[in-house]
Amino acid sequence: MNGKENKNYPLYCQFCGSNEVERNLAEVSFTCRQCKRKVFLNSKPAVCAVIIKDNKVLLVRSHGRKSWDFPGGFLVYGEPPEEGLKRELKEELAAEIKIEGLVDAIVDVYGKYHDFSFNLFYKVSLVSSEIRPASEIAEYGWFDIDHYPAIAFKSTVDVLSVSDRYK
Ligand SMILES: [Zn+2]
Repeated sequence: MNGKENKNYPLYCQFCGSNEVERNLAEVSFTCRQCKRKVFLNSKPAVCAVIIKDNKVLLVRSHGRKSWDFPGGFLVYGEPPEEGLKRELKEELAAEIKIEGLVDAIVDVYGKYHDFSFNLFYKVSLVSSEIRPASEIAEYGWFDIDHYPAIAFKSTVDVLSVSDRYK
């Protein structure tokens, strides 16, 4: 994947509001000619929980979506990834988790503007089997790791396709 085609350069500097922003296509950054600040258009960091129990994987579906994904979400600015994953699982499913380890790191595309996400996939186990989905979650389910439903993101499919490693 190459950032040169990235259409997501802002038209204005987010710090001083100047429209004199100079793009650097080679390193996918822009520099403001007024306040001189330089910003790299990085992929957005996200954390995902791979929870497999008895050959079933736990997936969630958000409202307004037909496809499923691992529980998880974007990290808050400055947040350590494992803290972020625990926060997301608590928010989405009221689940206490134990993080067993990092299993993969994959850049993917999300959203209508085709931004990049940088996804950290962790093998996770549930401390308690009780799950209470929050209102942001339309439904959750345990699916056969070989027969899962339509998946929202390619990186999720990539991880599921080698889920034998994470059992
Ligand atoms: Zn500026």
